[in-house]
Amino acid sequence: MNSIQGIGMTSRRTRERMIDRLIDQGITSHKILDAMRNVPRHLFMDDALASRAYEDTSLPIGHGQTISQPYIVAKMTELLVDQRHLKNVLEIGTGCGYHTAVLAQLVEHVNTVERIYPLHKQAKDRLWGLEIRNVSYLHNDGGCGWPEKALFDGILVAAAPSEIPEKLLEQLAVGGILLIPIGKERGMQELQRVIRTESGYDIERLEPVSFVPFMSGKG
Ligand code: SAH
Repeated sequence: MNSIQGIGMTSRRTRERMIDRLIDQGITSHKILDAMRNVPRHLFMDDALASRAYEDTSLPIGHGQTISQPYIVAKMTELLVDQRHLKNVLEIGTGCGYHTAVLAQLVEHVNTVERIYPLHKQAKDRLWGLEIRNVSYLHNDGGCGWPEKALFDGILVAAAPSEIPEKLLEQLAVGGILLIPIGKERGMQELQRVIRTESGYDIERLEPVSFVPFMSGKG
């Protein structure tokens, strides 16, 4: 066995342990567990941190940002996708692109927006290298959504504003789901699920979460 195969086997084993942990934490969707089994999370971070890639924790990705904890990626994906077939999804906060890569396996098309240019560029190159082709990338403030690509049947936000940006509500299709952490202070936020109905929006308050702040403007 050469060293690359050795690394590959270690990561497969630790990735499998991550999947077992997600099952223990209550993630039941096989589709989602399979998607997370397929995406090599260690390729989404610096070599120095790669050995910790399958721990259930968020880790730094540079520029003061973090890759989300596997449990939260799984939970948000489960809440968004559930049994539905999603055609056109918007993700705000590409970061390192890990969650984008998971989503790309479960929905027809992902549109992802990141305000920090180096993160946007690196994620785009990385997913291209992994031969993931059903993703469009935009460097912009996600508070504007992505009007040219709207409407979306799912919107997922990976940074926490103090209130739901109006443009995201406007760009949600009827029947579509928006998942967003709300609250400025880290550790004091809650995940909210918004469903657009014919006549308005149903807002459901879900579990407490901890996300980086949603920032205005391009970085
Ligand atoms: N989805 C990532 C998590 C990235 S952390 C993962 O798979 O791990 C959240 C990201 O949201 C950061 O990269 C941050 O720069 C970005 N962000 C914060 N505010 C934003 C905004 N207004 N528009 C777009 N991206 C934003």
